[in-house]
Amino acid sequence: MIKKLLRSLARLAPGHKAGHGRALKHDPSIYKGSRVGIDRRMVSSAAVRTVEGLQHAGFKAFVVGGGVRDLMLGLRPKDFDVATDATPEEVQRIFRRARLIGRRFRIVHVMFGPETIEVSTFRALAHENQETDAHGRVLRDNTFGEQHEDASRRDFTINALYYDPLSDTVLDYHHGVKDIQARCLRMIGHPEQRYREDPVRMLRVLRFQAKLGFKVDDKTLAPIRGLAALLENVPEARLFDEIVKMLCSGAALRALEGLTDFGLHRHCLPMLEMVLDPSTKGADRKAALDFVRLALANTDERIAQAKPISIGFLFASLLWPAIRFEWQRLESGGVKPVPALHEAIEEIVEVQNAGYSVQKRILSDARELWLMQPRFEKRGGGAAFRLLENPRFRAGFDFLLLRVEAGELDSDLGQWWIAFESTDSHDERLTLIADLAHSSSAGTGPRRRRRRSRRPEAASAQ
Ligand code: ATP
Ligand code: MG
Repeated sequence: MIKKLLRSLARLAPGHKAGHGRALKHDPSIYKGSRVGIDRRMVSSAAVRTVEGLQHAGFKAFVVGGGVRDLMLGLRPKDFDVATDATPEEVQRIFRRARLIGRRFRIVHVMFGPETIEVSTFRALAHENQETDAHGRVLRDNTFGEQHEDASRRDFTINALYYDPLSDTVLDYHHGVKDIQARCLRMIGHPEQRYREDPVRMLRVLRFQAKLGFKVDDKTLAPIRGLAALLENVPEARLFDEIVKMLCSGAALRALEGLTDFGLHRHCLPMLEMVLDPSTKGADRKAALDFVRLALANTDERIAQAKPISIGFLFASLLWPAIRFEWQRLESGGVKPVPALHEAIEEIVEVQNAGYSVQKRILSDARELWLMQPRFEKRGGGAAFRLLENPRFRAGFDFLLLRVEAGELDSDLGQWWIAFESTDSHDERLTLIADLAHSSSAGTGPRRRRRRSRRPEAASAQ
């Protein structure tokens, strides 16, 4: 009797894993948030109000996923998701501003002011009658279940923590707290099976590894190389979303390295395949890699400084090396520069879209940047002034500077544009244009793009 009492007291103690006996198998470890590094004031008021609303209506409700993980790590969460045992319709009835969304995965968006909280109902574990494709990919996932089942179907142990900001408690079903403390990314369940159910999880491994700087558990990492081709079966829109998340993770450069190490880039960033393919000449490959690395490092830097980034600019950068090769190839075959550029763009966009389509709006932003590039090299007459008035000048100019920084163009072209752009004086601008006529680099004369063969490191680069 006393033993029994002691056991049940022990079960309530923070950090205790109530794992003995069949009946208790699903009990989580319970931690006080403040004991595991969570500062509850960092939870947004919208998330707190969502949890409160649901709990007052008699439902379970927790902040879950990346928000809890990031709070524990002392990072500012990107957003907050809430998990509950209320059905989407019940959630919708509780909040004034709430919308049902999604098909494969039905959820509710609850809005407070400018903030949106994603509320999902606890999902059941995979079951026999689940709709899958021929490779085992789960097509729909709207069967509701118990909280412990919801925890088991999340991807990584560190993403399966449930936090109640009202009582400041964390529920941990899969040793996520321990893994966060050990900085280890570990898949819940059988990794290969989990990748087959949803191949996007392979990209998520590399994203979180890069973003958090965690070590990936060996068993989680092992199947990825062999299963890379499963990404081909993922619907385009989903793949595109995940790539965008990766590029905007603040660790895009590291994530890209992970992707290429595991051969995943072939199936999700086909434009890079062309650049990274071993048959591409050493110098070309190096120049292309330098350019992409620089573009991603700049993006990571902007995210670190909380500056906005443009997805159009990002895709323009990723596709550019392939476009540039093609542009140069066509030109050396005698096609005039501007038509050659147009042709190169159409060809490479087609290669990209054969993989998955980049949204039209994003591609049209990218096209503007690409097509503006030859115009930066013609500065004479009124050309420079006309370009400056282009509403997309700033983005085109940033893209030009990236090319200069990557060693694709002579640095004095960049310097000239910096001087031209940064002055407010019309006279100074006229002087800059007049100076062109005296220098050897007349803006109306032959173009000054660097040829690949002129790069000093070209001969030795691999
Ligand atoms: P981020 O900070 O980048 O948003 P996140 O972990 O919150 O990271 P989300 O894509 O917002 O990532 O997903 C929220 C949560 O949903 C995850 O933490 C995880 O628990 C679960 N989840 C998301 N995608 C999957 C997936 N493909 N398979 C299983 N669980 C997933
Ligand atoms: Mg999230």
